[in-house]
Amino acid sequence: MGTVPRTGWFGGKGAGPGALIKARCLNMSEKYDAAIVGSGPAGIFAAYELTVKFPQIKVILLEEGQDIYTRSCPLAEKKVSACVFCPSCAVMRGFGGTGAFSDGKYNITAKFGGWLTDYLPETLVMDLIGYVDKVNLSLGAPAAVFSSENSAIGKKALEHDLHLLGAKVRHLGTENNMLILRRLYETLKDRIIMRFNSKVERIITRKDGFTLQMAKGAEIRSDWLIAAPGRSGSEWFAGQCGELGIPVFSNQVDVGVRVELPAEIFKHITDEVYEAKLVYLTKQYGDFVRTFCMNPYGYVVTENTDGIITVNGHSYHDASKNSRNTNFALLVSNKFTQPFNQPHQYGKRIASFSNMLGGGAIMQRFGDLIKGRRTSERRLTKSFLLPTLAATPGDLSLVLPKRHMDNIIEMIYALDKIAPGTKNDDTLLYGVEVKFYSSRLELDKNMETPVKGLFAIGDGAGVTRGLAQASASGVHVARVLARRISGLP
Ligand SMILES: Cc1cc2nc3c(=O)[nH]c(=O)nc-3n(C[C@H](O)[C@H](O)[C@H](O)COP(=O)(O)OP(=O)(O)OC[C@H]3O[C@@H](n4cnc5c(N)ncnc54)[C@H](O)[C@@H]3O)c2cc1C
Repeated sequence: MGTVPRTGWFGGKGAGPGALIKARCLNMSEKYDAAIVGSGPAGIFAAYELTVKFPQIKVILLEEGQDIYTRSCPLAEKKVSACVFCPSCAVMRGFGGTGAFSDGKYNITAKFGGWLTDYLPETLVMDLIGYVDKVNLSLGAPAAVFSSENSAIGKKALEHDLHLLGAKVRHLGTENNMLILRRLYETLKDRIIMRFNSKVERIITRKDGFTLQMAKGAEIRSDWLIAAPGRSGSEWFAGQCGELGIPVFSNQVDVGVRVELPAEIFKHITDEVYEAKLVYLTKQYGDFVRTFCMNPYGYVVTENTDGIITVNGHSYHDASKNSRNTNFALLVSNKFTQPFNQPHQYGKRIASFSNMLGGGAIMQRFGDLIKGRRTSERRLTKSFLLPTLAATPGDLSLVLPKRHMDNIIEMIYALDKIAPGTKNDDTLLYGVEVKFYSSRLELDKNMETPVKGLFAIGDGAGVTRGLAQASASGVHVARVLARRISGLP
């Protein structure tokens, strides 16, 4: 990690190839060619590609959280029994971004994981995703790829009105995901300036670029700015967009539960496709419910979004670290129309009910939910299923709206037809799982905002919701910027 601007070649905004000037840094105020806010996959891959395409450019990467070696969660390391609400949640923030402790299911598809195809041709999105996949492979990603395209499971699902989304997925595994991030960190650390515990407080536009206001009055200037603040920075970024006059549009919020059951129940599915993304239109309400983030032999975990505890899951590639359970999310999508435009707040408030009632995440046996009673410690001890997360036994029907609960129950019965045993009494539901999506910005095909020179990428721009598309958006913007700096169209 460096703290002093590099000495070397750098070019100004709009400079042509011949306009690159060799300049000695005279320890002026901190000034860079490009600043990147956020070191999640989007910011990392923007930095990576910029340094590959344009090694002379002076880049600073600013991150509110810690570096990859320092970030650690006391709960994940079992040093505490419940979330201690660290001022900056290391699960959500730091080098590697939100998914650093995830098992890195890298979905090789443009069909889900984001909306980049609203801005770019599908072939380009697939090329970018393929490029990032190759980089990951060169850094140690496992060779195996699972495919749910033309699978037998897809046909069986269709017979029961469940729709399997076809895609290829490379499962990095929690340990490999971390290894790859460390290697990316090592690759970048000598090529760019990286600063951690460095929250950008405010973005100010100048005639010739941007000023970033940091804590304690420090300022950083740059000609170009790439904002990649992710989900955790989305509220902050929406506020900045308001000040800068950049139009934002509210996005959807997905609310639901994480299901955990014995791995054997889904084995025939997970062995074939690893992760089945199944979509179902409920008969009662006509709402879409989908399975999400399936973790064979995995673990249910909690995460802290701005002080609200929600649930998630992951699994290791190394079989010796497997649990005996499979988990996946069941999510109901909500897209609001006028006059309500705060889906983020809606998701947060629902999740805060489980925090209020359970002191964090709540778990309930499916059998208890159907019988209209809470799961107690006593009932849980009689369960044949050993939970992988120590959540509070309780009653999710007091937390989730009835419509969501009915949709989830209907989906569980539908899943039971292709994976008998899903509706067993012992199946555990953990709540609440919420997928917040940042407000979407007005962006052009270069991912550039109406403020010239300010690009926005990844989950924080509301254009992606997964590792593959977030990383791809970073590569795309870096290439656009490299062309601009070279004076090319
Ligand atoms: C537990 C978990 C598991 C997941 N598993 C998968 C998976 O298996 N497959 C998949 O495709 N996706 C997965 N995802 C989603 C995936 O991690 C995200 O889509 C991806 O990380 C988005 O990348 P990003 O770079 O846009 O944002 P992020 O990864 O969120 O990174 C943004 C970074 O910006 C920083 N930041 C924010 N505001 C500021 C500021 N003002 N100043 C400085 N820094 C700031 C944040 O601290 C953060 O580190 C998972 C997510 C979670 C939470």
